[in-house]
Amino acid sequence: MAETIAHQAKAHPAFCRPEVRTLPRYNAGLSEEAVRRQFGVEEISKLGSNENPYGPSPRVLREWPLLAGRLFLYPDANATRLREGIARFNGVAMDRVVIGNGSEQIIRMIAEACLSPGERVVTVRPAFGLHEIHPLLMGGVVDAVPVTAGGQFDIDGLCRALSRPTKILIFSNPSNPVGCMMKEDALRAVIDACPPEALVVVDEAYREYAETDADYPDACAILREQGRPWICLRTFSKAYGLAALRIGYALTSSAEVASVLETVRDTFNTTMPAQEMAAVALADQSHMRNSVARTVAQRDRVAAALRAMGLFVAPTHTNFVFFRTARDAMSVAHDLLEHGVIVKPWKEKGFENWIRVSIGLPHDNDRFLTHLAAVLG
Ligand SMILES: *Cc1c(COP(=O)(O)O)cnc(C)c1O
Repeated sequence: MAETIAHQAKAHPAFCRPEVRTLPRYNAGLSEEAVRRQFGVEEISKLGSNENPYGPSPRVLREWPLLAGRLFLYPDANATRLREGIARFNGVAMDRVVIGNGSEQIIRMIAEACLSPGERVVTVRPAFGLHEIHPLLMGGVVDAVPVTAGGQFDIDGLCRALSRPTKILIFSNPSNPVGCMMKEDALRAVIDACPPEALVVVDEAYREYAETDADYPDACAILREQGRPWICLRTFSKAYGLAALRIGYALTSSAEVASVLETVRDTFNTTMPAQEMAAVALADQSHMRNSVARTVAQRDRVAAALRAMGLFVAPTHTNFVFFRTARDAMSVAHDLLEHGVIVKPWKEKGFENWIRVSIGLPHDNDRFLTHLAAVLG
């Protein structure tokens, strides 16, 4: 079961569906407020949720107050302006773009629309918790292929898992939480191993960070050569700095696949301010690129510092670093909370000593490194 999943202490009452009775909950991490209250610390470095501390484009901040006069109106249920912008930006027709309340909602829509009880979903481990939870909610059977000891995707393992009947293949590239990247050859091998009728879902939540690497593959272009259904997921929550507004989107192989998702989409699933501000943020590529470059430079500095402390650091192409300590990650994370540093410890079997730290502003990264060194002694 994925790390980000906290097991239910006890099963829910019998009136729920069997899938719900035992469904694990997503562990969304700690808020600044919760840490301030619980630990009584003044200064918080929030490095547990992979947010972009440089925030959204200044154009967003400028236009935000202008939205107040329209708050009495329902949002555009079809998010027309935003979908037009996304379609133009990605060079696809607008009827292949689906908007979600965060890309996590689209993962749920995919599971709801496509999975029947007992159908198999192949993913990786450790993974983004919702890649497992939403399929489990629908009664799906999740087969998660562990990453290698060096923190890379196990391509042979994935191909083997895909040799059995599979309804959906879903993984993030680059990976959350590991940070590793599947390059073009490996991606092609995995897609080729996938049964032709299976739906391939590539979650590209961190693509803007990985794009700074020359060999980050264009999954959509590779999938486009295939006569199979596929979905690429993107989000405004990471590089675009709009996590609070909850906008993610799907690029689909065809209008038909988009229409499947539209059938299960809540009518007003995204708000007017979120649609408007995401469109504005998308139009300011230079701000986004600039914040990505600063984060990548800080990431490489943090990774080097962790290695200099003798810790094993997984390869990363994202805005976070996944590393192994000699101690139980939960206890290390707890000690860091005493100093107001929030990180994400892993709980999953085999990864109990691993911690994911998001890259923050230079000062927060310094606080993390200083307190980690002290905590690890
Ligand atoms: C953060 C994240 C998302 C969710 O993003 P939202 O658009 O905020 O829902 C999806 N997938 C992965 C792998 C993520 O890390």
